[in-house]
Amino acid sequence: MSDETPSADKPARSGFFAKVRRGLFMTHTEILEKVGTAVKKSLGIDESVLESLEEALLSADVGAETAAALTEAVRERASGSQRKDLEFVRTLLSEEMERLLSSAPRPERRAEVPLFVTFLVGVNGSGKTTTTAKLAAREKAAGRGVLLAAADTFRAGAIEQLQTWADRLDLPIVRHREGADPSAVLFDALSAAKARGAGTLLVDTAGRLHTKKNLMDELAKMRRIAAREVPGAPHETLLVLDATTGTNGLVQARRFVEAAGATGVVLTKLDGSARGGIVLAIYRELKLPVVFVGVGETIDDLVPFDPADYAKALLEDDAAH
Ligand code: GDP
Repeated sequence: MSDETPSADKPARSGFFAKVRRGLFMTHTEILEKVGTAVKKSLGIDESVLESLEEALLSADVGAETAAALTEAVRERASGSQRKDLEFVRTLLSEEMERLLSSAPRPERRAEVPLFVTFLVGVNGSGKTTTTAKLAAREKAAGRGVLLAAADTFRAGAIEQLQTWADRLDLPIVRHREGADPSAVLFDALSAAKARGAGTLLVDTAGRLHTKKNLMDELAKMRRIAAREVPGAPHETLLVLDATTGTNGLVQARRFVEAAGATGVVLTKLDGSARGGIVLAIYRELKLPVVFVGVGETIDDLVPFDPADYAKALLEDDAAH
Protein backbone atom coordinates (compact mmCIF):
# COMPACT_ATOMS: atom_id res chain seq x y z
CA MET A 1 0.00 0.00 0.00
CA SER A 2 1.11 3.58 -0.44
CA ASP A 3 0.70 4.13 3.28
CA GLU A 4 1.76 7.47 4.56
CA THR A 5 4.74 6.20 6.49
CA PRO A 6 4.35 8.15 9.71
CA SER A 7 8.03 8.53 10.58
CA ALA A 8 9.81 8.57 7.22
CA ASP A 9 8.32 11.66 5.75
CA LYS A 10 7.52 14.75 7.75
CA PRO A 11 4.90 16.41 5.51
CA ALA A 12 3.07 13.09 5.02
CA ARG A 13 3.14 12.52 8.74
CA SER A 14 1.62 15.84 9.57
CA GLY A 15 -1.03 15.35 6.88
CA PHE A 16 -1.83 11.95 8.28
CA PHE A 17 -1.89 13.23 11.82
CA ALA A 18 -4.02 16.24 10.92
CA LYS A 19 -6.65 13.95 9.44
CA VAL A 20 -6.84 11.68 12.47
CA ARG A 21 -6.84 14.76 14.65
CA ARG A 22 -9.71 16.29 12.71
CA GLY A 23 -11.59 13.01 12.94
CA LEU A 24 -11.16 12.88 16.68
CA PHE A 25 -11.87 16.52 17.34
CA MET A 26 -15.22 15.99 19.07
CA THR A 27 -13.97 13.20 21.31
CA HIS A 28 -10.80 15.10 22.13
CA THR A 29 -12.67 18.23 23.14
CA GLU A 30 -15.21 16.41 25.26
CA ILE A 31 -12.69 14.37 27.25
CA LEU A 32 -10.41 17.32 27.90
CA GLU A 33 -13.21 19.69 28.83
CA LYS A 34 -14.62 17.29 31.40
CA VAL A 35 -11.26 16.47 32.95
CA GLY A 36 -10.02 20.06 32.65
CA THR A 37 -12.99 21.43 34.58
CA ALA A 38 -12.45 18.89 37.36
CA VAL A 39 -8.72 19.66 37.58
CA LYS A 40 -9.47 23.39 37.87
CA LYS A 41 -11.97 22.82 40.66
CA SER A 42 -9.66 20.66 42.76
CA LEU A 43 -6.17 21.23 44.05
CA GLY A 44 -4.61 18.17 42.58
CA ILE A 45 -5.35 14.87 40.92
CA ASP A 46 -7.85 13.78 43.54
CA GLU A 47 -10.83 11.42 43.52
CA SER A 48 -13.14 13.92 41.84
CA VAL A 49 -10.67 14.37 38.97
CA LEU A 50 -10.31 10.62 38.58
CA GLU A 51 -14.07 10.23 38.64
CA SER A 52 -14.46 12.85 35.94
CA LEU A 53 -11.79 11.09 33.95
CA GLU A 54 -13.59 7.77 34.15
CA GLU A 55 -16.88 9.43 33.22
CA ALA A 56 -15.30 11.17 30.25
CA LEU A 57 -13.85 7.88 29.05
CA LEU A 58 -17.21 6.20 29.44
CA SER A 59 -18.97 8.84 27.37
CA ALA A 60 -16.26 8.46 24.73
CA ASP A 61 -17.35 4.80 24.59
CA VAL A 62 -14.13 3.09 25.59
CA GLY A 63 -16.26 0.62 27.58
CA ALA A 64 -16.64 0.21 31.36
CA GLU A 65 -13.75 -2.18 32.01
CA THR A 66 -11.29 -0.22 29.93
CA ALA A 67 -12.38 3.09 31.48
CA ALA A 68 -11.81 1.64 34.94
CA ALA A 69 -8.45 0.14 33.99
CA LEU A 70 -7.18 3.36 32.41
CA THR A 71 -8.34 5.43 35.39
CA GLU A 72 -6.61 3.05 37.77
CA ALA A 73 -3.37 3.28 35.82
CA VAL A 74 -3.51 7.09 35.91
CA ARG A 75 -4.30 7.00 39.66
CA GLU A 76 -1.25 4.83 40.38
CA ARG A 77 1.15 6.83 38.31
CA ALA A 78 -0.17 10.19 39.54
CA SER A 79 0.14 9.17 43.20
CA GLY A 80 3.88 8.77 42.84
CA SER A 81 4.40 12.20 41.32
CA GLN A 82 4.46 15.84 42.41
CA ARG A 83 2.74 17.04 39.26
CA LYS A 84 -0.95 17.83 39.56
CA ASP A 85 -1.84 19.67 36.35
CA LEU A 86 -4.12 18.79 33.44
CA GLU A 87 -1.18 18.42 31.09
CA PHE A 88 0.15 15.65 33.33
CA VAL A 89 -3.19 13.77 33.37
CA ARG A 90 -3.31 14.10 29.62
CA THR A 91 0.20 12.70 29.16
CA LEU A 92 -0.41 9.79 31.51
CA LEU A 93 -3.68 8.88 29.85
CA SER A 94 -2.23 9.17 26.37
CA GLU A 95 0.66 6.85 27.31
CA GLU A 96 -1.64 4.32 28.93
CA MET A 97 -3.99 4.34 25.96
CA GLU A 98 -1.15 3.88 23.53
CA ARG A 99 0.17 0.99 25.60
CA LEU A 100 -3.24 -0.66 25.58
CA LEU A 101 -3.74 -0.16 21.85
CA SER A 102 -0.24 -1.34 21.01
CA SER A 103 -0.79 -4.58 22.90
CA ALA A 104 -3.67 -5.48 20.57
CA PRO A 105 -3.04 -7.67 17.53
CA ARG A 106 -1.63 -5.76 14.58
CA PRO A 107 -3.22 -6.45 11.26
CA GLU A 108 -1.25 -8.42 8.72
CA ARG A 109 -2.89 -6.69 5.87
CA ARG A 110 -1.40 -7.62 2.62
CA ALA A 111 -0.52 -11.17 1.70
CA GLU A 112 1.70 -11.38 -1.36
CA VAL A 113 -0.68 -13.13 -3.67
CA PRO A 114 -1.36 -12.41 -7.33
CA LEU A 115 -5.00 -11.53 -6.70
CA PHE A 116 -5.88 -10.14 -3.28
CA VAL A 117 -9.60 -10.35 -2.52
CA THR A 118 -11.17 -8.07 0.10
CA PHE A 119 -14.78 -8.31 1.25
CA LEU A 120 -16.38 -5.29 2.90
CA VAL A 121 -19.20 -6.26 5.26
CA GLY A 122 -21.44 -4.43 7.71
CA VAL A 123 -24.93 -3.06 8.16
CA ASN A 124 -26.53 -0.62 5.70
CA GLY A 125 -25.43 2.95 6.14
CA SER A 126 -22.17 2.09 7.92
CA GLY A 127 -20.16 3.36 4.97
CA LYS A 128 -19.30 0.17 3.06
CA THR A 129 -19.70 1.55 -0.43
CA THR A 130 -17.83 4.75 0.36
CA THR A 131 -15.05 2.78 2.06
CA THR A 132 -14.82 0.43 -0.92
CA ALA A 133 -14.17 3.48 -3.12
CA LYS A 134 -11.66 4.97 -0.69
CA LEU A 135 -9.74 1.67 -0.54
CA ALA A 136 -9.86 1.41 -4.32
CA ALA A 137 -8.25 4.83 -4.61
CA ARG A 138 -5.44 3.78 -2.26
CA GLU A 139 -4.84 0.53 -4.13
CA LYS A 140 -4.80 2.34 -7.44
CA ALA A 141 -2.34 4.90 -6.11
CA ALA A 142 -0.13 1.99 -5.00
CA GLY A 143 -0.04 0.85 -8.62
CA ARG A 144 -2.21 -2.22 -8.30
CA GLY A 145 -4.80 -3.14 -10.88
CA VAL A 146 -8.12 -2.78 -9.08
CA LEU A 147 -11.50 -4.27 -9.92
CA LEU A 148 -14.69 -3.41 -8.05
CA ALA A 149 -17.60 -5.80 -7.47
CA ALA A 150 -21.01 -4.26 -6.79
CA ALA A 151 -22.34 -7.18 -4.75
CA ASP A 152 -24.65 -5.02 -2.62
CA THR A 153 -27.50 -5.68 -4.99
CA PHE A 154 -30.19 -4.95 -2.40
CA ARG A 155 -29.71 -1.46 -1.03
CA ALA A 156 -31.41 0.96 -3.43
CA GLY A 157 -28.80 3.03 -5.19
CA ALA A 158 -25.75 1.10 -3.96
CA ILE A 159 -24.80 -0.15 -7.42
CA GLU A 160 -25.09 3.30 -8.99
CA GLN A 161 -23.15 4.81 -6.10
CA LEU A 162 -20.24 2.42 -6.67
CA GLN A 163 -20.49 2.95 -10.43
CA THR A 164 -20.12 6.71 -9.90
CA TRP A 165 -16.97 6.15 -7.85
CA ALA A 166 -15.63 3.71 -10.45
CA ASP A 167 -16.16 6.33 -13.17
CA ARG A 168 -14.49 9.01 -11.12
CA LEU A 169 -11.52 6.77 -10.30
CA ASP A 170 -11.47 5.35 -13.81
CA LEU A 171 -11.68 1.78 -12.53
CA PRO A 172 -13.50 -1.25 -13.93
CA ILE A 173 -16.55 -2.56 -12.11
CA VAL A 174 -18.62 -5.74 -12.32
CA ARG A 175 -22.31 -5.13 -11.72
CA HIS A 176 -25.63 -6.81 -12.31
CA ARG A 177 -29.11 -5.35 -12.00
CA GLU A 178 -30.60 -4.38 -8.63
CA GLY A 179 -31.95 -7.39 -6.71
CA ALA A 180 -29.65 -9.83 -8.57
CA ASP A 181 -27.92 -12.70 -6.79
CA PRO A 182 -24.85 -11.27 -4.96
CA SER A 183 -23.00 -14.57 -5.41
CA ALA A 184 -23.46 -14.35 -9.16
CA VAL A 185 -21.92 -10.86 -9.15
CA LEU A 186 -19.02 -12.17 -7.09
CA PHE A 187 -18.48 -15.14 -9.41
CA ASP A 188 -18.35 -12.87 -12.45
CA ALA A 189 -16.07 -10.43 -10.69
CA LEU A 190 -13.63 -13.20 -9.70
CA SER A 191 -13.55 -14.45 -13.30
CA ALA A 192 -13.07 -10.93 -14.64
CA ALA A 193 -10.29 -10.20 -12.12
CA LYS A 194 -8.43 -13.35 -13.13
CA ALA A 195 -8.92 -12.69 -16.84
CA ARG A 196 -7.62 -9.11 -16.52
CA GLY A 197 -4.77 -10.02 -14.19
CA ALA A 198 -6.08 -7.58 -11.55
CA GLY A 199 -4.08 -7.36 -8.31
CA THR A 200 -6.96 -6.38 -6.06
CA LEU A 201 -10.64 -7.22 -6.04
CA LEU A 202 -12.79 -5.16 -3.67
CA VAL A 203 -16.23 -6.59 -3.00
CA ASP A 204 -18.97 -4.31 -1.65
CA THR A 205 -21.49 -6.67 0.01
CA ALA A 206 -25.09 -6.24 1.14
CA GLY A 207 -25.94 -5.10 4.66
CA ARG A 208 -29.43 -6.48 4.47
CA LEU A 209 -31.28 -8.79 2.11
CA HIS A 210 -34.77 -8.18 0.84
CA THR A 211 -35.47 -11.83 0.36
CA LYS A 212 -36.16 -14.45 3.00
CA LYS A 213 -32.53 -15.50 2.75
CA ASN A 214 -30.32 -14.97 5.73
CA LEU A 215 -27.55 -12.42 5.22
CA MET A 216 -24.97 -14.45 7.13
CA ASP A 217 -25.76 -17.54 5.04
CA GLU A 218 -25.34 -15.48 1.90
CA LEU A 219 -22.00 -14.11 3.07
CA ALA A 220 -20.85 -17.63 3.98
CA LYS A 221 -21.80 -18.80 0.51
CA MET A 222 -19.85 -15.93 -1.02
CA ARG A 223 -16.81 -16.90 1.02
CA ARG A 224 -17.01 -20.45 -0.29
CA ILE A 225 -17.27 -19.24 -3.86
CA ALA A 226 -14.28 -16.93 -3.42
CA ALA A 227 -12.19 -19.72 -1.86
CA ARG A 228 -13.09 -22.10 -4.65
CA GLU A 229 -12.12 -19.65 -7.38
CA VAL A 230 -9.04 -18.06 -5.78
CA PRO A 231 -6.97 -19.98 -3.21
CA GLY A 232 -7.05 -18.29 0.20
CA ALA A 233 -9.79 -15.81 -0.77
CA PRO A 234 -11.22 -13.71 0.70
CA HIS A 235 -7.79 -12.70 2.01
CA GLU A 236 -9.35 -10.13 4.26
CA THR A 237 -12.88 -9.31 5.35
CA LEU A 238 -13.22 -5.79 6.65
CA LEU A 239 -16.10 -5.07 8.96
CA VAL A 240 -17.23 -1.49 8.40
CA LEU A 241 -18.53 0.07 11.62
CA ASP A 242 -20.09 3.49 12.08
CA ALA A 243 -18.45 5.25 15.05
CA THR A 244 -21.55 7.33 15.69
CA THR A 245 -23.53 4.25 16.75
CA GLY A 246 -21.01 3.70 19.55
CA THR A 247 -20.82 0.51 21.55
CA ASN A 248 -24.50 -0.21 20.74
CA GLY A 249 -23.33 -1.34 17.34
CA LEU A 250 -20.97 -3.93 18.76
CA VAL A 251 -23.60 -6.56 19.51
CA GLN A 252 -24.60 -6.66 15.88
CA ALA A 253 -20.96 -6.45 14.85
CA ARG A 254 -20.20 -9.66 16.68
CA ARG A 255 -22.41 -11.59 14.28
CA PHE A 256 -20.30 -10.36 11.39
CA VAL A 257 -17.19 -11.57 13.17
CA GLU A 258 -18.62 -14.98 13.97
CA ALA A 259 -20.59 -15.67 10.82
CA ALA A 260 -18.90 -13.58 8.16
CA GLY A 261 -15.31 -14.15 9.31
CA ALA A 262 -14.36 -10.49 9.67
CA THR A 263 -10.58 -10.07 10.06
CA GLY A 264 -10.38 -6.35 10.75
CA VAL A 265 -12.44 -3.22 11.28
CA VAL A 266 -12.78 0.01 9.36
CA LEU A 267 -14.22 2.58 11.75
CA THR A 268 -16.07 5.25 9.78
CA LYS A 269 -17.53 8.68 10.58
CA LEU A 270 -15.09 9.43 13.38
CA ASP A 271 -15.36 13.02 12.21
CA GLY A 272 -18.99 13.14 13.30
CA SER A 273 -18.67 11.38 16.62
CA ALA A 274 -17.55 12.11 20.16
CA ARG A 275 -17.21 8.37 20.67
CA GLY A 276 -13.67 7.97 19.40
CA GLY A 277 -12.86 5.79 22.40
CA ILE A 278 -14.77 3.00 20.71
CA VAL A 279 -11.52 1.76 19.15
CA LEU A 280 -10.58 0.43 22.58
CA ALA A 281 -13.98 -1.24 23.01
CA ILE A 282 -13.62 -2.87 19.58
CA TYR A 283 -10.29 -4.40 20.52
CA ARG A 284 -11.68 -5.76 23.74
CA GLU A 285 -15.14 -6.89 22.63
CA LEU A 286 -14.49 -8.07 19.11
CA LYS A 287 -10.80 -8.98 19.40
CA LEU A 288 -10.29 -7.41 16.01
CA PRO A 289 -7.74 -4.81 14.98
CA VAL A 290 -8.90 -1.49 13.60
CA VAL A 291 -7.18 -1.29 10.23
CA PHE A 292 -8.43 2.04 8.90
CA VAL A 293 -10.47 4.95 10.16
CA GLY A 294 -12.84 7.05 8.04
CA VAL A 295 -12.69 10.76 8.78
CA GLY A 296 -14.92 12.27 6.10
CA GLU A 297 -16.85 11.72 2.92
CA THR A 298 -14.21 12.45 0.31
CA ILE A 299 -12.06 9.84 -1.36
CA ASP A 300 -8.87 10.49 0.63
CA ASP A 301 -10.62 10.61 4.01
CA LEU A 302 -9.41 7.13 4.96
CA VAL A 303 -6.34 6.77 7.15
CA PRO A 304 -4.46 3.66 8.26
CA PHE A 305 -4.87 3.19 11.98
CA ASP A 306 -1.82 3.87 14.11
CA PRO A 307 -2.10 3.41 17.92
CA ALA A 308 0.46 6.08 18.84
CA ASP A 309 -1.00 8.73 16.56
CA TYR A 310 -4.48 7.82 17.68
CA ALA A 311 -3.71 8.23 21.38
CA LYS A 312 -1.93 11.52 20.69
CA ALA A 313 -4.74 12.86 18.52
CA LEU A 314 -7.25 11.95 21.18
CA LEU A 315 -5.50 13.61 24.07
CA GLU A 316 -2.63 15.89 23.22
CA ASP A 317 -2.69 19.62 23.08
CA ASP A 318 -3.07 21.27 19.68
CA ALA A 319 -0.06 23.42 20.42
CA ALA A 320 2.10 20.28 20.53
CA HIS A 321 1.58 19.90 16.76
P1 GDP B 1 -23.34 1.58 3.02
O1 GDP B 1 -24.84 1.48 3.07
O2 GDP B 1 -22.70 0.83 4.12
O3 GDP B 1 -22.77 1.24 1.70
O4 GDP B 1 -22.99 3.12 3.33
P2 GDP B 1 -22.51 4.33 2.39
O5 GDP B 1 -21.14 4.06 1.86
O6 GDP B 1 -23.55 4.64 1.40
O7 GDP B 1 -22.37 5.49 3.46
C1 GDP B 1 -23.49 6.02 4.14
C2 GDP B 1 -23.25 7.52 4.35
O8 GDP B 1 -22.15 7.71 5.22
C3 GDP B 1 -22.90 8.26 3.07
O9 GDP B 1 -23.56 9.50 3.07
C4 GDP B 1 -21.39 8.46 3.17
O10 GDP B 1 -20.95 9.61 2.46
C5 GDP B 1 -21.21 8.61 4.65
N1 GDP B 1 -19.85 8.25 5.12
C6 GDP B 1 -19.16 7.12 4.89
N2 GDP B 1 -17.96 7.15 5.53
C7 GDP B 1 -17.90 8.34 6.19
C8 GDP B 1 -16.92 8.97 7.06
O11 GDP B 1 -15.84 8.44 7.38
N3 GDP B 1 -17.26 10.21 7.54
C9 GDP B 1 -18.44 10.83 7.23
N4 GDP B 1 -18.68 12.02 7.76
N5 GDP B 1 -19.36 10.25 6.45
C10 GDP B 1 -19.11 9.02 5.92
